[in-house]
Amino acid sequence: MMVVMKETATEEDVVAVIKKIERAGARAHRIRGARVNVIGAIGDVEQDVSVASLGLEGQPGVDRVMEILKPYKLASLQMTHGERTVIDVEGRKIGGEHFALIAGPCTVESRAQTLETGRIVRDAGATLLRGGAYKPRTSPYAFQGLGAEGLRLLAEAKAETGLPIVTEVMDMRDLDLVLEVADVVQIGARNMQNYPLLAEIGRSGRPALLKRGLSSTLDELLMAAEYILKEGNPNVILCERGIRTFETAYRFTLDLMAVPVLKELSHLPIVVDPSHAAGRRDLVQPLSLAAAAVGADGVIVEVHPNPDEAVCDGPQALRGADFAAYAAAVTQAAALARKTLSGGEPARTAAPATGGDPAGSGAAASGREPALV
Ligand code: PEP
Ligand code: MN
Repeated sequence: MMVVMKETATEEDVVAVIKKIERAGARAHRIRGARVNVIGAIGDVEQDVSVASLGLEGQPGVDRVMEILKPYKLASLQMTHGERTVIDVEGRKIGGEHFALIAGPCTVESRAQTLETGRIVRDAGATLLRGGAYKPRTSPYAFQGLGAEGLRLLAEAKAETGLPIVTEVMDMRDLDLVLEVADVVQIGARNMQNYPLLAEIGRSGRPALLKRGLSSTLDELLMAAEYILKEGNPNVILCERGIRTFETAYRFTLDLMAVPVLKELSHLPIVVDPSHAAGRRDLVQPLSLAAAAVGADGVIVEVHPNPDEAVCDGPQALRGADFAAYAAAVTQAAALARKTLSGGEPARTAAPATGGDPAGSGAAASGREPALV
């Protein structure tokens, strides 16, 4: 159930409603909208029935009591009355009219590679730096990430570039260590339905980037988000990263329709990962432009100073030398969807989407030809 308060409701009215809901055994989640307060009464079916019979309609300050129609409650757009969640990561906003450019290596390989990538993406105006210290690999024989040392290098990259860090946690036993460095905790596609991990991240209160499972429906993605939200953590960013279909011509099928449809269902920000969907560098820019055009709140992409030597996911990594031109093109596409690049310096390059010289970029300074991907 959800209780919509009147615009004129006082703080005492709100507190009285919360107390009544809690006395009925349900949890009260208060959502402060721009105009009104909404209080979600979240409990099991039995508790829902007892909340419904509390007679809250007649209580001072209450406008109306409504049933939440979706199986996910806190994630639903109905719960916020159509208001969009904007998440603040160290002053950098994600959601609303803000467009987040999240970029960095697939995995932290070395100090030099991490710091160089950090500088490249910072100079191009990125919002956040991504990088994995714990890597979910299909093969147990493949490189599994640098672990704690990788986290330490990410902390160093943050100290040098000022970019907040997005990094993945796979195992609950590493969570405390990851939380020492991660400004946003990534939950990988393969862990989307690891419910104890989701609940623990919910309890941590840290912003979470929740990637859609390889074969998960949007309802399942939103139910996974609900596990985090239910623990009192409102900072969830959804991520479409490609799903499995019958098509074999490319690695995954990037489901861009998920963006407008998720926006119809949920107030949470949605970013798109074209790198893991495509598995191919040449598709990353066109898919990023499409993601921006379809209304995504950002993209998360892989970048490497020298992808040919990357330890993992080299074929999909944007070349460091091309990144400034890429960032400028994506910023333009986001502007068409009335979104502004969030945080950092605006991309220094004014490179047109058709190519050209990204003046002031590392590529131009080094005399390398800025090839658009
Ligand atoms: C990643 O972002 O590094 C990653 C492994 O992505 P996914 O979980 O979407 O495969
Ligand atoms: Mn990767």
